[in-house]
Amino acid sequence: MDVKKEIEKLRKELQDHNYRYYVLDDPLISDYDFDMKLRRLQELEGAHPEYYDPNSPTQRVGGEVSKNFPTVVHEYPMYSLANSYSKEELQEWEKRLHKLVDGPIEYTCELKYDGVSISLLYEDGQLIEAVTRGDGTQGDEVTHNVRTIRSVPLKLKGDYPDRFYIRGEIVLPFEGFSMLNAERVERGEEPYANPRNTASGSLKLQNSAETARRPLDCLLYFVVGKSLPISTQYESLRRAREWGFKVPKESKLVKGIDGIMDYLSYWDERRHDLPFETDGVVVKVNSLAQQEALGFTAKAPRWAMAYKFKAEQAETVLRKITYQVGRTGAITPVANLQPVLLAGTTVKRASLHNADQIEKLDVREGDSVYVEKGGEIIPKIVGVDFKNRNPESHPTVYLKNCPECGTELVRAEGEALHYCPNSAACPPQVSGRIEHFISRKAMDIEGLGAETVNLLVRSGLIHNYADLYELKKEQILPLERMADKSAENLINGIAASKMIPFERVLFALGIRFVGETVAKKLARHYKNLEALIAASEEDLKEIDDIGDRIAQSVVAFFEAEANQVILQRLKTYGLQMEVKEKDELGQTDKLKGKSIVISGVFSRSRKEMKELIELNGGKNTSSLSGNTSYLLAGENMGPSKRKKAEELGIPIISEEDFMQLIA
Ligand code: AMP
Ligand code: ZN
Repeated sequence: MDVKKEIEKLRKELQDHNYRYYVLDDPLISDYDFDMKLRRLQELEGAHPEYYDPNSPTQRVGGEVSKNFPTVVHEYPMYSLANSYSKEELQEWEKRLHKLVDGPIEYTCELKYDGVSISLLYEDGQLIEAVTRGDGTQGDEVTHNVRTIRSVPLKLKGDYPDRFYIRGEIVLPFEGFSMLNAERVERGEEPYANPRNTASGSLKLQNSAETARRPLDCLLYFVVGKSLPISTQYESLRRAREWGFKVPKESKLVKGIDGIMDYLSYWDERRHDLPFETDGVVVKVNSLAQQEALGFTAKAPRWAMAYKFKAEQAETVLRKITYQVGRTGAITPVANLQPVLLAGTTVKRASLHNADQIEKLDVREGDSVYVEKGGEIIPKIVGVDFKNRNPESHPTVYLKNCPECGTELVRAEGEALHYCPNSAACPPQVSGRIEHFISRKAMDIEGLGAETVNLLVRSGLIHNYADLYELKKEQILPLERMADKSAENLINGIAASKMIPFERVLFALGIRFVGETVAKKLARHYKNLEALIAASEEDLKEIDDIGDRIAQSVVAFFEAEANQVILQRLKTYGLQMEVKEKDELGQTDKLKGKSIVISGVFSRSRKEMKELIELNGGKNTSSLSGNTSYLLAGENMGPSKRKKAEELGIPIISEEDFMQLIA
């Protein structure tokens, strides 16, 4: 077969399999076979750049970097939707329609997906452009990123119109959201607040390979264009499905207001079983002719109406407002409630967010309050039942001093939260920093956990992470549940951490905004602590990906006298304060773009091998696939791994080969 034909055949096959997997959720072939085909296509395309196609299935992995996203004017404005908050309002709307158009009216009922709206342009069956809603008149072009979403067809099937737009919602299903958050927590980063904002942020990432890693989904519900072969909304959904789009199955065609009401009641409950967030129902007049007759108001179509589901609510008494101090010193006000049943669980506490929120709601201790459960995990107070208020109550005065250490709280200009500035001695802040210091990605101190840290801090044995290195076995033995063996493990674990490489020490220090990656960058750039301390904000900003925020934070950290004392001590104890030759072995790009699977036993530890791969720009992956570059085989590697690698044609290399590769 000639190359061009084979490329075309593979693209077509992969496109079909992709569709079956991501749109229909009904795959025909194994992931392995899919990867094989994809890999073959990648090879052919790599060898024949003349057949490049931006809509080839290989382009799903992303990789383009866009510094900014061009503004695009919508050919058809993206209107907003009129909202109704009660069934009565919706009924009135439906009645009004009958005065404006003749004859019976049918409706398409759809769920209102809580994501980011997107407009996709297709010409001759090819995805041309993806644009966000923006202000409705113009949005941002985010095609590179949208191309990586597996359920967005890059090429259409069947009998599609030559040119049209299709609109829908990009969502991050709950499962993917939890997965992303688990990864973030693992890396010591703050978890994302909710799926919607995360989806929105994902579309604006500069590197589309990053977006490709987010498990986004795209649900479509509206086709727009000139002289389309469609006469109703429901039909457009059916047709769009035929062309290869993921159109939610939950949409339903109903006859009159009774049908609408049934749909509302049905989904008000069932929506909690859906894999993504919804916040209501959208009712649309089905006939496009009737839609045209109804037209638009300045902001929204007259032929559609959204109905927002009521979040589940309960009324109860706010007994007391207490304040929590987080690890960063941030203060969160908490409403302690008279226990109340809400959406199947008993609620005792609710979030009050911050001082502004308390003031806005004018919520006071002793008030009857409304509690709601939204997408967030902790319920929130949404209002006060003023009829029930004790006339003698006074407005809530926000806490002035830290409940843990008594220090006067501060609130920076433009920030919502109050902070306890006593970071050096405020107990939860001290414990928080030490917990970060000992965590797995940082100093990885075995035998020490959060509970023990708290115990050590409360008993006054340690005040900062440097104190850990002065601990004696006799001091910790008297602590609760501390046996001889565990005390010894702890002391050994602390001593062993002195070998942890500089870049991880740097991460362990807990400098604000200095995560694992930034710590690595700084360590490799400056090589040792002295040089890093000597760097000015301007110097720091010369480094890739280091901006104002990080530079300021780094300089401020090293300027603080208390930190200088601690660093001096850490150095005296023998912690690694410079990049060692061994660490430096890496620092090449020799494995850039290579994905390597390790298997078996090596002379170095598995962890070390993994670090070497990453230090040299490669990626360590866990299972063999068409994308694997090498199988790095140690002793006693399982025969099935070898067989699979051979089948896939993946080169098998030894530890020695590997060391030569990066030397
Ligand atoms: P709002 O943002 O409250 O004005 O609601 C309008 C938005 O709802 C639209 O911009 C869409 O992004 C979104 N939406 C979600 N699901 C649907 C749907 N089935 N039909 C129309 N719009 C929807
Ligand atoms: Zn404090």
